[in-house]
Amino acid sequence: MLHIFNSLTRKIEPFHPIHDLQVGMYTCGPTVYDFAHIGNFRTYTTADILVRTLQYNGYEVKYIINLTDVGHLTGDNLGDADLGEDRLEKSAKKEGKTAWEVAAFYTEAFLKDFEKLQLTKPQRFVKATDHIKEQIDLVKQLEEKGFTYTTTDGVYFDTSKFEKYGELSNLDEIKAGARVEINPEKKNARDFALWKFSPQDEQRQMEWKSPWGVGFPGWHIECSAMAMKYLGPHFDIHAGGIDLRETHHPNEIAQSEAATEQTFVNYWVHSAFMLVSGQRMSKSLGNNYKLYDLEKEGYDAMTLRYVYLQTHYRQEMNFTFAGLDAAANAVKKLREEVRLLEEPTHVSKEYSDLFLAALNDDLNTSKALAVVWELLKSDLPDSVKHATLLKFDTVLGLQLDQIEKEETLSLEQLPRPVRSLIMQREEMRKMRKFAQADQIRNQVKKLGYDVQDGQDGITIKKI
Ligand SMILES: [Zn+2]
Repeated sequence: MLHIFNSLTRKIEPFHPIHDLQVGMYTCGPTVYDFAHIGNFRTYTTADILVRTLQYNGYEVKYIINLTDVGHLTGDNLGDADLGEDRLEKSAKKEGKTAWEVAAFYTEAFLKDFEKLQLTKPQRFVKATDHIKEQIDLVKQLEEKGFTYTTTDGVYFDTSKFEKYGELSNLDEIKAGARVEINPEKKNARDFALWKFSPQDEQRQMEWKSPWGVGFPGWHIECSAMAMKYLGPHFDIHAGGIDLRETHHPNEIAQSEAATEQTFVNYWVHSAFMLVSGQRMSKSLGNNYKLYDLEKEGYDAMTLRYVYLQTHYRQEMNFTFAGLDAAANAVKKLREEVRLLEEPTHVSKEYSDLFLAALNDDLNTSKALAVVWELLKSDLPDSVKHATLLKFDTVLGLQLDQIEKEETLSLEQLPRPVRSLIMQREEMRKMRKFAQADQIRNQVKKLGYDVQDGQDGITIKKI
């Protein structure tokens, strides 16, 4: 049985779904005003591993991810998400595009990386701007129940009216107002905007009519409105980055439960931060790497995925290029091993159980990887190892059987005897001694490498 750490109770708990074999799960997705960096993708990979583990356990997962394309203000960096500029509109100004173009561009970029990292596609990616009506309806419900008040800049949720407010967060660690000047019109420091009015002196690109005035939704309301629309008022799992545990998620709980008067979510799962070479990721340090930064350096998405799997999702991960190199070798070696194995027959129950036990232990992916290497070292027949590895890969998602993607090798990557044979063969070809060149090619083949001549020179691959 799956056991998972629930941020709400701060304990590892056995997982009991609301419905027998169907699990409802929601993950907070990106704000599409910039490229998502490798720290963001760690969170989506954690959610992906959870979905795949649930599936491995036999559950069907109804999975929803949102795309925030309006209402996320820059003030959240300073501790108040209701202040500052709209991130989309700010990017639009900077890039000389419309906010809609910015959203479309970064959504497409996100989805491409999402696919490259083999992240499980949700049933739906839901956009905030496609669900304005649902958000307004939810604010209306909260207003009718007396949870809201209006200030000069918007409609706010009164957290003092919701008794359980902040259960999820470590409230003591966060003193609202400690880092940012509190909006004087707020009744309580932690009250938050449900609807913001458009500024009077400026025409916003994204704005809608509402019963309270023209404006746009607050950042938190979209997740409550969309999660409940697709998964119902009470569902199993809500995932996201640890940074959302203190404000965004408590606000989601408050809005949803105040409106429906029932429990919103049973299990809250949060993925820890990523450091880069021991430092916090930030634009100013230039270390908030994107997948394309790694691709430019010759790494692929599966290497990054392997790096994610090596650290437990609740531990801070320290990303380094040395670690990435080691992961690249590990993935390459795994793929080579899989290729050398005989046709798959049946899965080893012993190793499959060990693998599942690791994952069911609060998603212990590093232990699951250890089981993979133990399996390879075991005395089991190659055909069984092959079948078992392919089954493991339904969770690991490392595309272990993708031999057609095998890279072409450079001379430096070859064992010395193979390298010298290939150099001799080149000499023969230059002298137009093709029969000898062919003979050498056969010798190279016997050592496990294939040489092909093309217009741009030779390509060498391991057979
Ligand atoms: Zn959210």
